[in-house]
Amino acid sequence: MQIPMLDLKVQYESIREEVNAAIQNVLNNCNFIMGEDVKKLEQEVAAYCGTKFAVGVASGTDALLLSLIACGIKHGDGIITTPFTFIATTEAISKVRGQIIFVDIDPQTYNLDPEKVKEYIEEKCTFNAKTGQLENAQTRKPIKAIIPVHLYGHSANMDPIMELAKKYNLTVIEDCAQAIGAEYKGRKVGSIADVGCISFFPSKNLGCYGDGGMVVTNNDEIARKVRILRVHGCETKYYHLIDGFNSRLDTIQAAVLRVKLKYLTQWNDQRRQRGHLYNSLFSQQRAEVVTPLEADYTNHVFYAYTVRVSQRAELMEYLKNQGIPTMIYYPVPLHLQDVYKHLNYKRGDFPISEQLSDEVLSLPIYPELTEEQQEYIVEKIGEFDKVNSQTREPVNT
Ligand SMILES: *Cc1c(COP(=O)(O)O)cnc(C)c1O
Repeated sequence: MQIPMLDLKVQYESIREEVNAAIQNVLNNCNFIMGEDVKKLEQEVAAYCGTKFAVGVASGTDALLLSLIACGIKHGDGIITTPFTFIATTEAISKVRGQIIFVDIDPQTYNLDPEKVKEYIEEKCTFNAKTGQLENAQTRKPIKAIIPVHLYGHSANMDPIMELAKKYNLTVIEDCAQAIGAEYKGRKVGSIADVGCISFFPSKNLGCYGDGGMVVTNNDEIARKVRILRVHGCETKYYHLIDGFNSRLDTIQAAVLRVKLKYLTQWNDQRRQRGHLYNSLFSQQRAEVVTPLEADYTNHVFYAYTVRVSQRAELMEYLKNQGIPTMIYYPVPLHLQDVYKHLNYKRGDFPISEQLSDEVLSLPIYPELTEEQQEYIVEKIGEFDKVNSQTREPVNT
């Protein structure tokens, strides 16, 4: 059996007529930039996420960048986030010349740990009541925001993060790139904090056929600023209020996304079913893997199905030879990346993120994955366990 890591072709086949018609419609109108489909998609995504506003942008990365600027984040401002994420989260911080402040993750959910954020604030910062600003006690630099990432499609624990934000006057930007449709206590991610950032990269749960992204918010000032920023800083063409960007969502991508959005609930449900099936297959087999937790405050939408294993490299090789591709999201936590050497973090600073980087392994998961394929994958992992049971160290949880 040869199983693909992701099968975009099968999905396209299932909606080919509708997608082709939607693209053809854009071609007929030749309204390629900011066409009708962009406006409609924005309304539909806002309704889906339960926010007042949604603003299409060129990518998830730009959604983060434009949100930070719209929230008033500037040179020197500290932003607290997780080191266990895709680098786009922190690139956006660097681009506004903010200061990246890493805090370790929760060992169960792999998301930013609110307890550790609190610890960082209480031990390393002072709150200046006069200015209403949280500051690093040593450098006196302001701390302005928190970016929780809903990693793998599992919501971060938002309530305690929002409480800290309220207490210390911090903006919260949700990185929803991997989690559109996931909920936190019944509310869609992206609608909980000040802003939510969505990616439509093709592999994401709602992917377009190129790059695309969206900012969702209930704050009309933030929405207005992002709308201005994405078109060279204008509200009226050729009247520039600020230095902006060229960061629009293409009409063709919006047209594709409008077709696909109709299926998102179904597709996310199918991902969930497959995630739960993996969990039960692994527990029946008593395999030497740690399966992902679904906290009771969320519905996991399984952008990734990620287990923790020992002897990861050997297992990957073994599975590859059996026609099973796997991925590591992510092999090096951000605080140990070359690009962030200047931040002076070292190994040992964030032990949970470091341990997970060594142990995580993501298996194929998508709506089109069959039960037979899942059984095969779990069976092969079980086989590997048997062969290696003498030498294998159990994963330490
Ligand atoms: C994919 C991703 C992004 C960036 O989205 P793009 O659309 O690829 O720019 C940001 N954050 C996380 C966590 C992601 O997975």
